[in-house]
Amino acid sequence: MIFGVWNGDAMMLVNSFDRNRTGIAYFSMEIALDSDIPTYAGGLGVLAGDTVRSAADLKVPLVAVSLVSRKGYFTQKLSAKGEQTELPSDWDPSKRAEELPVRATVKIEDRDVQVRAFHYQVSSPKGGNVPVLLLDTDLVENQPGDREITHYLYGGDLEYRLKQEVVLGIGGVRILNALGFRIRRYHMNEGHSALLSLELLRENQLDAKRVKSMCIFTTHTPVEAAFDKFEYPMIDRVLGDLVPKDVIRQYGGGERLNMTLLALNLSDYVNGVSRRYGEYSTSLFPGYKVHAITNGVHSFTWTCAHFKRLYDRYLPGWADEPSFLTRVGTIPDKEILEAHREAKEDLLTCVRTMTGIEMDPRVLTIGFARRATGYKRPNLIFSDVDRLRKIARRWGLQIIFAGKSHPKDETGKLMIKQIFRYMEELKDDIKMVYLENYDLALSKLMVSGVDVWLNTPQPPMEASGTSGMKAAHNGVLNFSVLDGWWVEGWIENVTGWAIGPHPHENVTPEERKQQEKEDLYNKLNYIICPAYYDRVDDWADMMQNSIGILASYFNSHRMMRRYVTDAYL
Ligand SMILES: *Cc1c(COP(=O)(O)O)cnc(C)c1O
Repeated sequence: MIFGVWNGDAMMLVNSFDRNRTGIAYFSMEIALDSDIPTYAGGLGVLAGDTVRSAADLKVPLVAVSLVSRKGYFTQKLSAKGEQTELPSDWDPSKRAEELPVRATVKIEDRDVQVRAFHYQVSSPKGGNVPVLLLDTDLVENQPGDREITHYLYGGDLEYRLKQEVVLGIGGVRILNALGFRIRRYHMNEGHSALLSLELLRENQLDAKRVKSMCIFTTHTPVEAAFDKFEYPMIDRVLGDLVPKDVIRQYGGGERLNMTLLALNLSDYVNGVSRRYGEYSTSLFPGYKVHAITNGVHSFTWTCAHFKRLYDRYLPGWADEPSFLTRVGTIPDKEILEAHREAKEDLLTCVRTMTGIEMDPRVLTIGFARRATGYKRPNLIFSDVDRLRKIARRWGLQIIFAGKSHPKDETGKLMIKQIFRYMEELKDDIKMVYLENYDLALSKLMVSGVDVWLNTPQPPMEASGTSGMKAAHNGVLNFSVLDGWWVEGWIENVTGWAIGPHPHENVTPEERKQQEKEDLYNKLNYIICPAYYDRVDDWADMMQNSIGILASYFNSHRMMRRYVTDAYL
């Protein structure tokens, strides 16, 4: 390694990593570090951010590697009809992170492309630190096209994506080497970074056994069609002779390079992100052992100020040890309801500021916010407009939506427009808003300020889902399709409510759809509204359960410890 060019900063970085300078490298295409650092698009990035935040709290020797995404994902604007336009969301890494004095070189299409890294430090109040390395190719030494490789998160075409994955996987390993990190385990958060396994093969004289012993793969994608795949002519052209062609085909698939397959074949430890998805993936990946480590959210990050104050008073130490939240019963109901009232007020103030619409704090308020894309079915709640209208007239109902659609996701964009049409159609009976530019800050306001968190994905597409866990930390009740984490968290009428059949029930798609509709409207009308409006004690009990049963478990401290004992050690 290039010891000669180390200056003090790089030394410090490695020293804070671990006394022995060995540890875990966590690779992720996206990572949510801060609300206004646009290096994330959705749940995958938020998970990566929560992972490093827990690693810092727990002093796990971990270094994260991602791309700098200077031009970000995008800022969402919505017209009065719900048409999305994408505005740039550039950020200047030199203002928020520190450039490191090392370079790595990767070969792309036979050109040497220089890679540098910005260091963003995630520091815990407990004294732990996790360095996050944000890779950047925007250097004068590089050709103009290559300078843009790390600009756009999930932008460009397939070839652009491949070049990003070269920088992330191969460039990432080389930057870590250049900085003197000694990595015991390489953790791939999704298949985007799978090329790192080829770089490790190259470093280790094609010793696959050794490479496998170093690699951990976490899969989030439950459909074959969504795996990253590249045609071999493109691979051969872009990668050149990194490793022999037959070796790539041996591990990455005969017809095309499938990043999921590559990661599966070169990792000794593979896991899905919920028990349900672990179970399901045995059929998706026959012959592979897929463990399950259910996702969690960073408790301190996702608990709003009002609940933090309560937990600090009644359950000191909860942020370090979220399982203390099981003792939520020591907090009087009255105070829980009051904390929620304050959180709701914050959200409704934000709604007023963003839209000019005055919502009523007494009215049952449903929240739905996540990436706007087909399988998340944001408009399932509108499958029977007349029934929804009747329920709203009888009880009173408000709904708050948010979510960006990927610029190329036409279905997602159409769904936002459909929601706007329903908002117009139902405006005399239900106050509804769609808030622009969903990000970490807006998410926190929403998951703490609504009364019910709605989640209606198409099973088995939601590998885990995490926003419902954030809601649980704030005593907000989940009303969700039984997919991903909710299969584990759900106890009917105790922790929340289910929509549609259990995954073990054998139903046709039509029966499923029908049962989902019945549950949505029947439970809303006969269970949820009556509890909210008429039986506040029962409601408060369920809020307590949400915190005591769900938040105490579905947090990233529990998840991180699981990764340490099951995968890292
Ligand atoms: C938590 C979060 C998500 C993930 O939400 P899911 O409902 O799990 O898909 C996506 N985007 C942002 C901004 C978030 O904070």
